[in-house]
Amino acid sequence: MQTADDLTARLEAAERQLEELTAAVAHNDEKMRRTQQRELRLLQAEDLETLLHELLDGLRVSYGLEQVSIVFCDPDHDVRHLLLAAGTPAESFHGLLMVESLTGLAPQYVALRKPWLGLFAACDHQLMFPQSSGLGSVAMIPLTRRKELIGSINLGSADPGRFTREHAADFLAHLGVIASYCVDNTVNRARLLRSGFTDVLTGWHNRRYLLVRLNEELARARRDGSHLVCLMLDVDHFKRVNDSWGHAAGDAVLRELANRIDTQVRASDVAARYGGEEFVVLLPDTDKASGILLAERIRRAISVTEYRLPNGQSVAITASIGIAGTTPEPDTEDLKTAGDSLIARADVALYRAKSNGRDQIAVDEH
Ligand code: GH3
Ligand code: MG
Ligand code: MG
Repeated sequence: MQTADDLTARLEAAERQLEELTAAVAHNDEKMRRTQQRELRLLQAEDLETLLHELLDGLRVSYGLEQVSIVFCDPDHDVRHLLLAAGTPAESFHGLLMVESLTGLAPQYVALRKPWLGLFAACDHQLMFPQSSGLGSVAMIPLTRRKELIGSINLGSADPGRFTREHAADFLAHLGVIASYCVDNTVNRARLLRSGFTDVLTGWHNRRYLLVRLNEELARARRDGSHLVCLMLDVDHFKRVNDSWGHAAGDAVLRELANRIDTQVRASDVAARYGGEEFVVLLPDTDKASGILLAERIRRAISVTEYRLPNGQSVAITASIGIAGTTPEPDTEDLKTAGDSLIARADVALYRAKSNGRDQIAVDEH
């Protein structure tokens, strides 16, 4: 039989347990709230400088860490130059390490696909922390760009038990995904700002940007064995628009046309104004059949309704589109030539669409 004392003791134990659970939930809530706030601040960072400060100082303060550093692999000194041009050289960020290669820096980089947590070991980790004294444990969170490792965010704590291999690293992995996205985004934005990659008339990317991205997309297709489609579009009889209505009207048509193409392409596609009234769209990881469908959708979106001109009149516009695709062989070394050939094949197909009567698409058969 249970005595009153037994019951009281059990009740007290249950109450204690509830208190502990409530405290744990409150702690988790607080942790979650802090994490969300931190991630929001990263997403709101408008430029690379702000983002780096949020990562380096923001994470250190909000997680109460001894040190935070960022290792960034920048083999072409591209990001370093962007920071320099913005008036905030890489050296001005305490804890930012720009390197040409990750190998040799820390053994963990060989297979850093998710956060690595463990004891601080001077021989392994001292290069990634500017002052490594006083550290007990570290977390290395991978930074990736297009699935490739480009560096890491390194959290250093004096407490040897703060980051251990037994800890759930889910929220750190989440932070890494967000941070990687933000880095990619702000680096791309800085590139646009600094290097004249933007077309003034349409606000689209220009030919220079397209050629850089073409190279990147070919490298990715080669690595993944995926198919890349290139659409080359040219407005039909555009000279007539200029001749009949003037250049300002022609400009307005080009802007509207760019908007119409924009409504059809995905965020992962690369669209650029290639020349005067020529536009190119790259469709990564897309088979030829899907490329043809999209080209047909773009062609229809362009011609479906007339274009309002600044003088209030309207004009009908059509365009012709050439389509070419490629899956670069794994041993393709010269991506520049591969890119030139893809564009040239799309151009030849475009010419065929023109000579077949315009307002249509044509496919390269290679
Ligand atoms: P086709 O169907 O064979 O393409 O005929 P087209 O008249 O379009 O011929 P073409 O492509 O040779 O001519 C392009 C014209 O586009 C010539 C050029 O003056 C005009 N153009 C190029 N860039 C601009 C621009 O930024 N604004 C305006 N208004 N016109 C431009
Ligand atoms: Mg043309
Ligand atoms: Mg034309």
